[in-house]
Amino acid sequence: MFPARFQYHRAGSVKEALGMLQQFGDDAKLLSGGHSLLPMMKLRLAQPAHLVDIGGINDLVGIREEGGKIVIGGATIHDQVAGSAVIRSKLGLLAECAAAIGDIQVRNRGTIGGSLAHSDPAADYPAAIQALEGEIRLESGSGARTVKANDFFVDLMTTAIKPGEILTSVSFTPHTARTGYTYLKHRQPASGFAVVGVAALVTLDTKGNCERVRVGITGLGPKAFRATAVESALTGKKPEAATIGQAAAHAADGIDALADIHASAEFRAELARVYTRRALQQAISTIKV
Ligand SMILES: Cc1cc2nc3c(=O)[nH]c(=O)nc-3n(C[C@H](O)[C@H](O)[C@H](O)COP(=O)(O)OP(=O)(O)OC[C@H]3O[C@@H](n4cnc5c(N)ncnc54)[C@H](O)[C@@H]3O)c2cc1C
Repeated sequence: MFPARFQYHRAGSVKEALGMLQQFGDDAKLLSGGHSLLPMMKLRLAQPAHLVDIGGINDLVGIREEGGKIVIGGATIHDQVAGSAVIRSKLGLLAECAAAIGDIQVRNRGTIGGSLAHSDPAADYPAAIQALEGEIRLESGSGARTVKANDFFVDLMTTAIKPGEILTSVSFTPHTARTGYTYLKHRQPASGFAVVGVAALVTLDTKGNCERVRVGITGLGPKAFRATAVESALTGKKPEAATIGQAAAHAADGIDALADIHASAEFRAELARVYTRRALQQAISTIKV
C-alpha cells in the first residue's frame, strides 16, 4: 500500500518546525517515529500534502532532571524511556509501561510525543501518564503552555493540541518513598496494543494505610482516564485483598466501553475490573516499608 503524494521536510529545530507548520497550515502534519502516522497514510486515513519531520531535532530528544521533575523530550523513543537509568530508578512505572509497548522495532522508532499526540484509545503510555499526573508542554509560534494529563486527553484520538502546536516535552514528579507501581495489560496478540491496560501507583503512609492511590486505564473507553472511583474507595484504607477487590469493582464506572473485533464492551469492562485488582495487588506487594 502506498500513501498519497506528499512533500517531505526535515526540521533542524523546534523554531524551524513551527515555521513550517505556520507556512503549510492544515496541509501539514508532524512526523516523529512515523509508526502511527505512516500506517494511517498508507490506508489513506490521513493525506497530508506536507510532512514536517521533527525526529532529528536534538532539543526534542532525551531525559533530564530539572527543578525536581523528570522531563522527557517529545521525540524520545520508547526504548530510551524503558532503558533509562533515571526513569527506571525514579519513575519506574513509566519505564515498565514503555517496555510493554509493541515490540523492539516499534520501541526503537515510536516516540512519547507521537504516542500521546496520536492518542490511540489502545495505546499504553496514556494510562501511565494519567496515573503519574504528567504535564505536557505544547509550543507554538505564539508561546508555550502546559496541559495536565487529565485535560490533555479529550476524546477518541483527540487531544488538547491545537493546530500549529508541537508537543515538546512531558514532565513528571518522581516516585516518593513507600510507593509501589505496575503496568499490566491484556495484549492484543498481533500488535501488542492494550485491549485494556491498567497503570497503578500506590503510596502507603507510615501506618500501612493507602495514602495516595492513582489508577490510569487505557483501552476501555474512547480515551485513557483516571479511575477516580477506584482511587477514592481505597484511599485511607488498609490494602487488604477484600478492600482492593471492592475498590477495583469500580474500574469501569461511568465509562462507555468500546466494542470491536477484539473484545465486546462487557468483556472490556470485566478486563478493566480484573486487571485493576491485579495491578493494585501487584503494586502494593512491591512497596518497601
Ligand atoms: C506494529 C505496531 C505495533 C504497535 N504496538 C503498540 C503498542 O503495543 N502500544 C502502543 O502504545 N503503541 C503501539 N504502537 C504505536 C507506536 O507506539 C507509535 O510509535 C506511537 O503511537 C506514535 O508515535 P510516533 O512517534 O511513531 O508518531 P507518528 O506516527 O510520527 O505521529 C503520530 C501522530 O502524532 C503527531 N505527532 C507526532 N509527534 C508530535 C509532537 N511532538 N507534537 C505534536 N504532534 C505530534 C503526528 O502528526 C501524527 O498525527 C504500535 C505501532 C505499530 C506500527
